Amino acid sequence: MKTHRNKPMLTPIEAPDDATALTSSSALPALPAGAPRHQRLATVVVERPRCPSCNGVRLQKYRSIADQGDGSALAWVRCLADGCGCRFKLLME
Ligand SMILES: [Zn+2]
Repeated sequence: MKTHRNKPMLTPIEAPDDATALTSSSALPALPAGAPRHQRLATVVVERPRCPSCNGVRLQKYRSIADQGDGSALAWVRCLADGCGCRFKLLME
């Protein structure tokens, strides 16, 4: 008699055990040792930057500060949309 259930269709993508070895950054905390295997992870949405003038998404960075010292990044951006060319600063916290 079969009592074993089929696996669910959706299988979460699991990071390999050595995932932390791929990044040199120690900012990301490792999962606790006793974490459940199929833990539900929260989704954080990061929207793409848009031009404040025309709402376009074709942007070109022409200068940037990768890390201002507090983890935030600042970039100077030009909109590439036809007839716009708006320049603005982009702050990524
Ligand atoms: Zn624009």
